[in-house]
Amino acid sequence: MTTGATVWLTGLPSAGKTTIAYALAERLRAQGRRVEVLDGDEIREFLSAGLGFSREDRHTNVQRIGFVAELLASHGVLALVPVIAPYTDSREAVRKRHQQQGTGYVEVHVATPVEVCSVRDVKGLYAKQAAGELTGLTGVDDPYEIPADPDLRIETDGRTVEESASVLHALLVEKGLTI
Ligand code: ADP
Repeated sequence: MTTGATVWLTGLPSAGKTTIAYALAERLRAQGRRVEVLDGDEIREFLSAGLGFSREDRHTNVQRIGFVAELLASHGVLALVPVIAPYTDSREAVRKRHQQQGTGYVEVHVATPVEVCSVRDVKGLYAKQAAGELTGLTGVDDPYEIPADPDLRIETDGRTVEESASVLHALLVEKGLTI
């Protein structure tokens, strides 16, 4: 069986996590690789319905997604997870679970500065926060703990989506995870 792994893309809202994950998924699928994208928004609608954005709920959300990703990865799927995951201890718990199960885990920090994210503002969250219509926005008035030692840090500012996806693709090739 092909080797599965979880590739977690962590970063601020509008950093480019989802865009890179789908761009990469498309490439890999075209090569016949089994890939699943565990989209954060979709997951919050189903798997994590009812959870909010407190520290505890964010932790629970990440653990649930990590659990499903590990299951998929243990069956040979490349599970791409574009989910903020703001807390180091939540991310480390997911990594540890993968290690315990002997399943591959790759942490990618999509490192786009908040100033750039807030201009992109794909979902209008930064504008809402600035207008006082929303509180608890990661990186603005809610914590984002920057990964200290990710497997890869992708700078997206001034780069195209294809360039960013290529950097990650290259790492996965190096790790033998694309076949
Ligand atoms: P996130 O999932 O991190 O919240 P999205 O992927 O939804 O962010 O949105 C990121 C936005 O930034 C998209 O509109 C995307 O086209 C744009 N973008 C610009 N340059 C890049 C890049 N190099 N990599 C990824 N996204 C980029």
